[in-house]
Amino acid sequence: MEKLYEGKAKVLFPAGPDTLRVYFKDEATAFNAQKRGLIPGKGVINNKVSATLFRYLEAHGVKTHFLEEVSDREMRVLRVEILPLEVILRFKAAGSFAKRYGVKEGTPLKTPLVEFSLKSDPLGDPLICPEAILALGLAAEEELSQVRTTTLKVGELLRDFFAQRGLDLIDFKLEFGKRQGEILLADEISPDTMRLWDQKTGEPMDKDRFRKDLGGVEEAYQEVLRRVLRG
Ligand code: UDP
Repeated sequence: MEKLYEGKAKVLFPAGPDTLRVYFKDEATAFNAQKRGLIPGKGVINNKVSATLFRYLEAHGVKTHFLEEVSDREMRVLRVEILPLEVILRFKAAGSFAKRYGVKEGTPLKTPLVEFSLKSDPLGDPLICPEAILALGLAAEEELSQVRTTTLKVGELLRDFFAQRGLDLIDFKLEFGKRQGEILLADEISPDTMRLWDQKTGEPMDKDRFRKDLGGVEEAYQEVLRRVLRG
């Protein structure tokens, strides 16, 4: 079937007037697509991890675009109008945050921190403050407030979920969409979009293994899936 859109990690196909089929690819990119590679099996893992996490969040009152898994690499979701924002929640300093403020990776933050980036490949996803989001009309005040509240709730739920599976959730990125005036959690939640450190060893079990050439990328993704499915 004709694809609607192809991104760096997923392809979207129409699946009905109100739904899409999302196909998860094995391709991996980092540093605004300057680094490219393949993580064999990643698409299957990210589909299963995302589906499991969407179901878990739905069961705890979070509204998402997720409908069902349709194959190993595909899920069916509601069509939404994606807000052009990457919403990041941080529990501990890592990545661009640690670099920006000159703090050691792993430093705990006094409070969970919500940050926003503008989704724009040509601009390299620059940080954007809430006032600029409102001034540019990228979201309304009520929508932004809902996005922030939901992100903090998702953070608490995911942190508990992973803590029970021996993984420390350091930070993650969410995207939200609008459908019939309602804000829904969209996109994916996977080792591509989170930092997860093994509680015992402190080893990263996520895309940082690819970004930093740490090796054992596929094995780490497999292990995350194994723990996520443990129930
Ligand atoms: N992240 C993402 N997509 C992006 C940028 C970041 O999924 O385009 C995730 C990343 O995996 C991490 C969190 O958001 O879990 C915070 O990332 P950060 O801002 O530190 O940027 P990075 O160091 O990944 O460039």
